[in-house]
Amino acid sequence: MRDALQDWFERAARPLPWRDGRRDAYRTLVVEVLSQQTRIATVEARLPGFLARFPDLATLAAADLDEVLAVWSGLGYYRRARALHALARAVVADHGGRLPREPDALQRLPGIGPYTATALAAQAFGVPGVAVDGNVRRVGARLLAAPDPSDREVRSALTALLWGDEPHDGQGAFVAEALVELGATVCTPRAPACPECPLRPGCRGAADGDPTRYPAPRRRTAPRPWTLHAWLVVDRDADGGAVVAVERRADRGPWAGLHGPPWRDEPPPDAEPLARFVHRLSHRTIDAHVWRASAPPEDADVRWLAAADLAGLGTAEIDRRAFALVAATR
Ligand code: SF4
Repeated sequence: MRDALQDWFERAARPLPWRDGRRDAYRTLVVEVLSQQTRIATVEARLPGFLARFPDLATLAAADLDEVLAVWSGLGYYRRARALHALARAVVADHGGRLPREPDALQRLPGIGPYTATALAAQAFGVPGVAVDGNVRRVGARLLAAPDPSDREVRSALTALLWGDEPHDGQGAFVAEALVELGATVCTPRAPACPECPLRPGCRGAADGDPTRYPAPRRRTAPRPWTLHAWLVVDRDADGGAVVAVERRADRGPWAGLHGPPWRDEPPPDAEPLARFVHRLSHRTIDAHVWRASAPPEDADVRWLAAADLAGLGTAEIDRRAFALVAATR
């Protein structure tokens, strides 16, 4: 079955830019971290810019976090950028600047979970293993005809199917990537293309006649509402140029370390409304109000930046939408 999977992968895998046969551990790491919760088209578009600015682990480790966040701007899930930066520093400090090869050691690094550790070890170092993400979980659930298998059950079912016992060296390092690709392109959520699937002979879900019953849908919790108010304060510097009050967020929460106008739970007093929009996070729906304020909140620790310099900051999408209104305050 492993040979069939390999044949299929070599024939049918999408020609993504990072599938050029090079086993560059740093580039594989960046691709894996970027790919978490980001569409492949976006990863393809943003990868060259990130690698141009941070071409290797040592450069990334030596950079300021603010600069990393600025290059990451617009990609969302900024904890990934913070963790990647912390990981680079940990590898330089504790591993002589080289990523460790084994999944267990990789998993002890900041931001690396079981999936990324296995995928990275396989793709960068040829260590065989089954990395279970959402795509692979779906494949495993259908192979087992199981509505809600654990990651361990998925891993052991796929291991038994592909190796017979434990993953072993030799052919097999491609497996982690091939299974993710199979889930993304063949064993899709609503319309699995079973006749094209190299795992079809071992699939109980397909044999049952309706593999889309597996896995059972998970109950989603509805995003919680949250109302936030941006205090957009624009002043003039000594030369008459516009300067904007900018706050760097504390090192916790979804936007830790990013810059924006001060956001508070309350609107500024006697303020002029500029805009209101809905901003969605995975677990929150934000009712965002942007106000023209005459002064920052008393508790804010702001810097004053020229309007033209705002584009170079690490900002979240919600901040960029607020800063886009600076022109409206003049
Ligand atoms: S045979 Fe069909 S259901 Fe089974 S793993 Fe392949 S695509 Fe998925």
